[in-house]
Amino acid sequence: MAALHTEALLLRSADFGESDRMLHLLTPATGRLTAVAKGARRSVKRFGGNLDFFNHLRVQLDRRRPGAPARLDHARLLRAFHGLRGNARRFGLSCYLLELLDRLAPEGGAAADCAGLFAFAIGALERVNADPPDLRLRVLLELRSLDRLGLRPELARCVRCGGGVEQRPEGVLFHIAEGGPLCFRCAARPAEGGAARPAGGGLRVQLGTLRALQASLGFRLDRLGRIGLGPAALREAAELLHRFLRFHIGVELKSERVLAQLAPSAPLAAQLAPRGARGGGPRRGVAPVAGAARRG
Ligand SMILES: [Zn+2]
Repeated sequence: MAALHTEALLLRSADFGESDRMLHLLTPATGRLTAVAKGARRSVKRFGGNLDFFNHLRVQLDRRRPGAPARLDHARLLRAFHGLRGNARRFGLSCYLLELLDRLAPEGGAAADCAGLFAFAIGALERVNADPPDLRLRVLLELRSLDRLGLRPELARCVRCGGGVEQRPEGVLFHIAEGGPLCFRCAARPAEGGAARPAGGGLRVQLGTLRALQASLGFRLDRLGRIGLGPAALREAAELLHRFLRFHIGVELKSERVLAQLAPSAPLAAQLAPRGARGGGPRRGVAPVAGAARRG
């Protein structure tokens, strides 16, 4: 299988050699894949100027050398999400999602999983392009990303015994390190062979927050606006996912800092207000913060 024709989305790009670029692509055929775009820095025309972030591409790749990066031969533009560059919040959230996928998407994997992950990535960019890029959208897309990557937290059952989880006056204990809620009985006793609260700790949340997050997984991306998440539940969900990701990825994503600056725990109403309209968003060709700065 030498030539591969597939759709692709650029996740990360870096200078390579004298005039080339090394690309991290997400494809429905293979998941994440690295490819060299020869001569891409010498001439933008080489690939029709299409090797940019937020471009849905159709590519031809040469994979003749097993174990080595593929060689990009052609890249045709199917669709450009121009709106993501016209608004700082849209840009920040899109970069964040691309960085998350770049960090966590597997190379290879079951074909159906790769196709599903790619479809999610395109659908997520569509949503950020169309809906208010607020904390609510971020939380729901973060959770859906983890679900598509096979890494989502448990939300419905006790992560330790598999039993039901009930609401108590003090809320439900969500165990960050174990990746899910604990039922009342399990929360009251230490884990086998370990301390009650190992690294990662616990977070008190309302059962309704977990239920809303669980329910959101069954909604189509274009119906996410129908999920009932009030301001308090949204704050809980954001904190839960932030700590879950930090603990299980182990490092902070670069674009997360940018997102925090764009929306520093501001009231939700303020986050919904349009910003960055005047003066435009980041220019076309400016690499997302997802480790993609072009180095000279
Ligand atoms: Zn339990």
